[in-house]
Amino acid sequence: MTAKELVNKIFFVEILKAMALTLSRMFSHAVTIQYPTERRPIAPGFRGQHALAKNPEGKAKCVGCGLCAAICPSQCIQIFREKGKVARYEVEVLRCIFCGFCVEACPYGAIVLTENFEYSNYSKEALYMTRENLLSNWDKYMAGKKGEDYFKKFWRPMSEDFGTPQSQAVFRGRR
Ligand code: SF4
Ligand code: SF4
Repeated sequence: MTAKELVNKIFFVEILKAMALTLSRMFSHAVTIQYPTERRPIAPGFRGQHALAKNPEGKAKCVGCGLCAAICPSQCIQIFREKGKVARYEVEVLRCIFCGFCVEACPYGAIVLTENFEYSNYSKEALYMTRENLLSNWDKYMAGKKGEDYFKKFWRPMSEDFGTPQSQAVFRGRR
């Protein structure tokens, strides 16, 4: 043990330093906020609770193709089709890791992750989202221009991303 370490040990230097730090912070402004009465703004593009998107006529966009379920790494999306229609669409939210792959994979822009993060519950069943819950989440959190803007700003690829860039070589067939 060096002399410096010995002095530090005898005079509790580390403890004194920590106490000095605590004292210096005691009279400064608190960094905590009084949630839920105070709230911080939500980060743009936040990935919260799921919703199933509706078209301007108010109908569900989802056609039940199953791409979202196929790509979901947590396998938490269940889709049941009957007579060519989506009979049930369910998301087991407790298993979701909010990766956003379902949103990216959907060719119809039919599933979104809303800004809602306040859905904690004591019951597991309440966190098993049905098609009806998911559609009502669209009305609650994404209806109108908000939903449109959300897709445009935060989700890729979109149809316009598939346009061939000017500089890219393209196959033009045999002459
Ligand atoms: S966000 Fe990811 S884990 Fe959650 S449902 Fe979508 S694909 Fe699955
Ligand atoms: S949400 Fe999209 S990807 Fe998933 S089943 Fe519906 S249309 Fe297909």
